[in-house]
Amino acid sequence: MRQVLAYLGQFRVVAASAVVAIALTRSAAAQSGSSRSAAVGAADRTEILFLGTAAGPPLRLDRSEPSTLLIVDGRPYLIDCGIGTIQRMLRAGIQSEQIKTIFFTHLHADHDLGLADVMANDFLRLNTTSSSTSINIYGPPQTRELVDAAFHYITMGFRAFAAEPGATRDALVNGEFKSPFVAHEIQGAGLVYQDDKIRVTAAENSHYVLMPAQSRQQMKSYSYRIETPHGVVVFTGDTGPSDAVVALARGADVLVAEVEDFDQATKFVNRTAEQNHWPPQRAAAMMAHMREEHLNEEDVGEMASRAQVKSVVLYHYNPTDPAVYVAGVKKRFSGPVFASADLDRYCLSTDAGDRARNPSILRPCPEGSLRK
Ligand SMILES: [Zn+2]
Ligand SMILES: [Zn+2]
Repeated sequence: MRQVLAYLGQFRVVAASAVVAIALTRSAAAQSGSSRSAAVGAADRTEILFLGTAAGPPLRLDRSEPSTLLIVDGRPYLIDCGIGTIQRMLRAGIQSEQIKTIFFTHLHADHDLGLADVMANDFLRLNTTSSSTSINIYGPPQTRELVDAAFHYITMGFRAFAAEPGATRDALVNGEFKSPFVAHEIQGAGLVYQDDKIRVTAAENSHYVLMPAQSRQQMKSYSYRIETPHGVVVFTGDTGPSDAVVALARGADVLVAEVEDFDQATKFVNRTAEQNHWPPQRAAAMMAHMREEHLNEEDVGEMASRAQVKSVVLYHYNPTDPAVYVAGVKKRFSGPVFASADLDRYCLSTDAGDRARNPSILRPCPEGSLRK
């Protein structure tokens, strides 16, 4: 943000501040150097870049929480933003402020708690470059509350910089920081977004099916169908088996699906219940959530077959062996199935030769994974 850098520039002669200033200046220079181009990735294709592929809490070292970039002709759209998203973006060479549109499938903690990190980086970078760009954040009811709370949280960390003598106050209105973040709450199924690259349709899925009706008025979980110039990608988000998602995914080129190993989940619930002396009804409720509000491998295969999608990519899982998950899906679905890891990327190709050779237009991108 401008006043931070102005302040730091002014006091660079002070030895202690100079260390911080130089560090921040270098960091800003490195970022601007690598973000000279507004495009992310190659033009003329759609790429799915998996930033985080783990199932929900607890946190893991090897897989970040759910977060996926859909990059269409070089323009990035973010779907969900779990803890660790910003670090994966840095590793992938993505500047977060290049992402102008974010979609939340639902507001469970593992899908949204990385937002404040991304917003903090956006806020710093947009102010540094005096950009008046807005970042639009789409999600279910309560998304506005989430965005407002995250903005309040991050700006507390910038108040003291703005209060220093010599700091510019361009980013302030009546003493408050201006927010570049605009929340859009999606109230129900249907067309929810459209621009010159993509068209997004939502369906309410069955992830909250056990929730009392009153709560389901306030909390919704969506799957998204995103039409691009290179094919149709459907993100299940979190869901149990769902006719609405099957209808949404009808004929899609790619189904990006959550998946869970119910045996592993059962062991986890039983172990946690035993260690913490849970009453039986608490363990039963958690197990019902796992079994009815999530998908196992055969559920994914069944839904993919019914929807006649052309390929499946699994994410949101904690595999001991990804091949086992793939084999489980293939029991019910005959098309190609991929098991993603963090920083893997898949490309949709419209090349006629590719299509002739491979009925699925999805493949790992030719440049390979960004894992290092
Ligand atoms: Zn989840
Ligand atoms: Zn969830």
